[in-house]
Amino acid sequence: MTVATDFLVIGGGSAGVATARRAARHGARVILIERDRMGGTCVNVGCVPKKVMWQAGRLAKSQCDMDDYGFDGQPMTHDWQRLVQRREAYIRRLNGIYDTNLEREGVEVVRGDARFIGPRRVQVGSEEYVGEHVLIAVGGRPERPEIPGAHLGIDSDGFFGLEQRPARVAVIGAGYIAVELAGILQALGTETSLLYRRDTVLRDFDAMLGPLLVEAMTSQGVRMMPNTVVSRIEQVGEELHVDYGGPEPLRVEQVLWAVGRRPVTDTLNLPATGVDCDSRGFVPVDAYQNTNQPQVYAVGDVTGGPALTPVAIAAGRRLADRVFGGQVDRHLDMRMIPTVVFSSPTIGTVGLTEAQARAQYGDDAIKVYQSTFRSLYYGVLDNKQISCFKLVCAGEDERVVGCHLFGGGADEMLQGFAVAMRMGARKQDLDDTVAIHPTSAEELVTMT
Ligand code: FAD
Ligand code: NDP
Repeated sequence: MTVATDFLVIGGGSAGVATARRAARHGARVILIERDRMGGTCVNVGCVPKKVMWQAGRLAKSQCDMDDYGFDGQPMTHDWQRLVQRREAYIRRLNGIYDTNLEREGVEVVRGDARFIGPRRVQVGSEEYVGEHVLIAVGGRPERPEIPGAHLGIDSDGFFGLEQRPARVAVIGAGYIAVELAGILQALGTETSLLYRRDTVLRDFDAMLGPLLVEAMTSQGVRMMPNTVVSRIEQVGEELHVDYGGPEPLRVEQVLWAVGRRPVTDTLNLPATGVDCDSRGFVPVDAYQNTNQPQVYAVGDVTGGPALTPVAIAAGRRLADRVFGGQVDRHLDMRMIPTVVFSSPTIGTVGLTEAQARAQYGDDAIKVYQSTFRSLYYGVLDNKQISCFKLVCAGEDERVVGCHLFGGGADEMLQGFAVAMRMGARKQDLDDTVAIHPTSAEELVTMT
């Protein structure tokens, strides 16, 4: 039997759930197919468990500062297993909330693995579903290089499966996940090395940020290993030996790959739809989330656009508004997307890097303001951490086109500045705004 519906959504992650719910709210009959836990990467093995672990790391690190703030007493010990149990219980509650929300909006959920058998026709087990409109929202999974022994390591999914804290870990990579998970592990007591193949980390970000983070992580005890290419991993007894061309292999308990993610389109049988994908499996879309096939759309990580939950949600809701809500030009403007790296300290960034702005507007049109300071929190501490904020301004009226923050609190500070920048804020607008004292954020309205 074939079930026909207005909107068939494949994938119950950030993109699929948000799009399905908004479409249902517009009155569409929606079927959502999910083969795993509801909520996808973000809820189960991404943003949510990562932030819980990051919070634990922050608490652990703040203990080192307590002495200088006048607290006495033994440093507390940490029970990794208890944290993991509480984290997973929280995630199960979120899974339930996702299910309930879908039910409340009238979205029918089908559990199973979807595979295309026609242009807008999908098979799940023995059932067939056909949608007037179809959304591909299957997300991504971690990637590994093809080197001997790569399978001996874990990836971010495996990190969230760890039931005990590993004593020694080599994290390999240079992006968000590498620096975030290396920071968390080190903060919670793991001897951590970060191996990256170039001279710095976060190379896609403003050039100010990577070197600052390398310095901060080094001072926190992470062994930072630049220009390091791993060629082989070998199991030797209980240890993993990581070959990277050094005189001795690096001996660790776990290797954690964090070298990017790839889309999970390989099991979808996309040729049956005629939907194009690129050589890595990403599904290209236009600004309206259209694929090359009529009434087949893609949203979220599978498109190869910014792989961020709020981007997936915002693009999906706008797609549903356009297709089912009659808002013909509704789509997500991908410029000025704010993002935070939950490193230690945090990094917040929105808009153009200095290099991008110079390339786009020309050197003469760019003025850069930068402030390096120590937050008041460190005033009474022996162990001090610098913060560094940069504003990139363009044109005679000094429009703020880039904002790059390195320092504690950057994660919570950035959102409001992103709003201002989207509204076209000029440097003068920041100058005209009265500061809040004493905070780190005030540096952004007092730069000269
Ligand atoms: P997914 O969330 O991956 O959802 C896809 C869903 O489709 C999955 O549930 C999958 O089971 C299902 N599926 C796949 N194939 C099929 C099939 N054939 N049939 C049925 N179902 C299928 N972003 C942030 O904004 N902030 C963060 O702090 C952040 N931290 C992150 C930390 C980590 C460790 C990782 C890995 C990612 C993080 N992200 C973060 C990125 C964010 O998680 C993703 O951008 C987001 O989850 C993408 O949503 P999606 O719906 O496109 O894909
Ligand atoms: P990223 O794409 O951010 O970074 C991966 C980096 O690893 C590359 O930039 C590259 O850096 C390096 N790399 C690639 N291949 C290899 C290799 N074979 N050997 C060694 N190093 C390699 O991927 P992530 O996996 O960190 O994260 C995926 C995406 O998930 C992110 O881009 C982000 O969009 C999202 N995410 C968001 C978070 C947040 O919002 N806080 C947190 C976590 C993930 P180089 O070229 O410099 O070597």
